[in-house]
Amino acid sequence: MNYHISKRAASLSPSLTLAIDSKAKAMKAAGEDVVGFGAGEPDFDTPQHIKDACAKALADGFTKYTPSSGIPELRQAIADKFQRDNGLSFKPSQIIVNCGGKHSCYNVILATCEEGDEVIIPAPYWLSYPEMVKLAGATPVVINTSDKTEFKVTPEQLRAAITPRTRLFVLNSPSNPTGSVYTPEEIKVLGDICVEKGVLIMSDEIYEHLLYDGAVHKSVASFSQAHKDHTIIVHGLAKAWSMTGWRLGFIAAPEPIAKAIDAIQSHSTSNPTSFAQKGGVAALNGPQDHLPIWLAEYAKRRTYACQKLNSIPGITCVNSKGAFYLFPNISVLGLNSSDFCAKLLEQEKVAAVPGIAFGADDYLRISYATSLANIEKGLDRLEKFVKGLK
Ligand SMILES: *Cc1c(COP(=O)(O)O)cnc(C)c1O
Repeated sequence: MNYHISKRAASLSPSLTLAIDSKAKAMKAAGEDVVGFGAGEPDFDTPQHIKDACAKALADGFTKYTPSSGIPELRQAIADKFQRDNGLSFKPSQIIVNCGGKHSCYNVILATCEEGDEVIIPAPYWLSYPEMVKLAGATPVVINTSDKTEFKVTPEQLRAAITPRTRLFVLNSPSNPTGSVYTPEEIKVLGDICVEKGVLIMSDEIYEHLLYDGAVHKSVASFSQAHKDHTIIVHGLAKAWSMTGWRLGFIAAPEPIAKAIDAIQSHSTSNPTSFAQKGGVAALNGPQDHLPIWLAEYAKRRTYACQKLNSIPGITCVNSKGAFYLFPNISVLGLNSSDFCAKLLEQEKVAAVPGIAFGADDYLRISYATSLANIEKGLDRLEKFVKGLK
């Protein structure tokens, strides 16, 4: 039977990060000694008090539909988080809880973009952004950056990419896949340009709390009322609370956009899982003392991994300032990133994600959300692999 697949679906490339992660997991399950650097999620467990709140909600029978935009208690907790962490005041009506931060991004793009619209996405980018833009019928406009500018777009590049059809500028700091963090001054200038040109910013701040070396995060919405009026913040509980499987993300937006997103959500997924939302309340309102412990651990791994990568002839790596990724440059080693990663997995049983997945073929993404022992073992194997090339 010849099944018809919609143009919308046929135009997509499936998520390469998820594919590599599942291949590595399958090899592991088959008894192979695989070191996985592919993970896009923390290796720590969700803190106990969050699980307890969810378990209690289940035991109490909190198992029915909630408002599609999320329970009032969680929207209030999110509003409080923005006040506390970012000095931003949002009404709960400006906040919508979604089924993961990925879903938040998708809703934002669906609510604001259509055929003929352009969305500016700096590369290396989180691989789902361009695909989501295509799903909405709009056109991704990619700005290339490199390790020479710590993977940051310059004001000149942004200006040059804006056209009358530009609808959204996607800003993701700290960045997945590079770990790059814009300074507040750099963020402000990019925000100024968007305000001047009437372009909305989708600011994906999910790694806000994962910072190193004294880097600071400042939301582009926090510079002025005009900046706030041009910004939709995307955030979620996956990374800083290690709740990837819970599927809880959220947006804070100007009210008409929040309303549009709620309308889309009410006809597609409806509410995020009821009892998971109770866990979300506990995550935001409860103690945050897990975070410094995780950060100290990430920082140790990052320092080791960055030094080790730079010690391998042919590899150079700028140190990341946030998230839990390094993005080493392999361009002089004579293989494109897909072949490099395929051979690395085959020969040395090390899983890394090829940079091409993020629009940057000269690089690999190495996640250090795995133990230091794994990192040492995996990078020793990478070194052996590189020395065996040519
Ligand atoms: C992980 C991640 C998200 C959200 O992930 P969810 O699991 O859907 O909550 C959003 N943006 C970036 C850049 C991410 O890395």
